[in-house]
Amino acid sequence: MLKAIQILGCYSGFVSFIRRLPTSSSLLRVSSTRRNRCFRAHSESNPGDPSSSFSSSSSSSSVSVKSAGNVLKVNFCQWCGGPTKHGVPEGEEKIRAICTLCGKITYQNPKMVVGCLIEHDNKVLLCKRKIQPSYGLWTLPAGYMEIGESAAEGAIRETWEEACAEVETLSPFAQLDIPLIGQTYIIFLAKLKKPHFAPGPESSECQLFALDDIPYNSLAFSSMLVTLNLYVQDVKAGRLKFHYGTINKR
Ligand SMILES: [Zn+2]
Repeated sequence: MLKAIQILGCYSGFVSFIRRLPTSSSLLRVSSTRRNRCFRAHSESNPGDPSSSFSSSSSSSSVSVKSAGNVLKVNFCQWCGGPTKHGVPEGEEKIRAICTLCGKITYQNPKMVVGCLIEHDNKVLLCKRKIQPSYGLWTLPAGYMEIGESAAEGAIRETWEEACAEVETLSPFAQLDIPLIGQTYIIFLAKLKKPHFAPGPESSECQLFALDDIPYNSLAFSSMLVTLNLYVQDVKAGRLKFHYGTINKR
C-alpha cells in the first residue's frame, strides 16, 4: 500500500500535499523542492484537481519514513548450499543470513528497474500488462536491469521487449526509490526511432495516450503513477526536468 512519496531536489523551497488515491484508502503525500516555480505539486491521481490540500514546510524530514524493508529469509547459502543462521555479523548492524558451513554472509541489495517514458505527437506510450503482477493494468515499458548493460540500455531493451519499439533515450527523467521492497526505478525520456510499436510477449496492448487521457485509475505501479504525474506537471509548466524521490509503502 502506498504510504508516502517524497520528491527531493536541490533548491530551496518546499511544498507538500496529502490526498487520497482513487484506488485505495491509503494516503499519498508528496513533498517537493522546486526550481523557478516550475514544479507544482498537485493531485497524484488527477492532475489539476483543486481539492488537493497544500502545506508548506522548511524541512523534508516529516515525510521521510525509514523502513527496514521486506528482506527475504534466506535459509541456504548461495555459495555452498549449506544451511544459514541469522544474526548480526561482527562489525555490522543488521541481521544477515550467515552460512553455518562456509561462514559467508548473504547480502540482499535493492534491484534496479529501468524504463522509458516515450513522447510521440504529444502523447505517451503505455503498455497493458499481460503478465502478473498487475495483469491488465497499464505501465510504461520497464523492467529489471540486467548484468552487463547500462540503465539506458536496459530501458531501451525493455521497451523493445514490451512494446516492440525502437527508442532513443534522451535524458533521465525520474529516479524513484521504494525502500520497503528494495527497488529503484530509473525512467528515461525517450523518443521513437521509427513510428512503430506493437505489444510484445508481456503486453496485451500498446497505446499512445494524450496527457488528458492517461488511465490513472488503471496504472500498474505507484512508480508509474508518480512518474506520469511528474511528467504532466512538467509539461504544463513548460519545462521538463529530472526528479528524484522516495516512495514509501506500508
Ligand atoms: Zn556456505
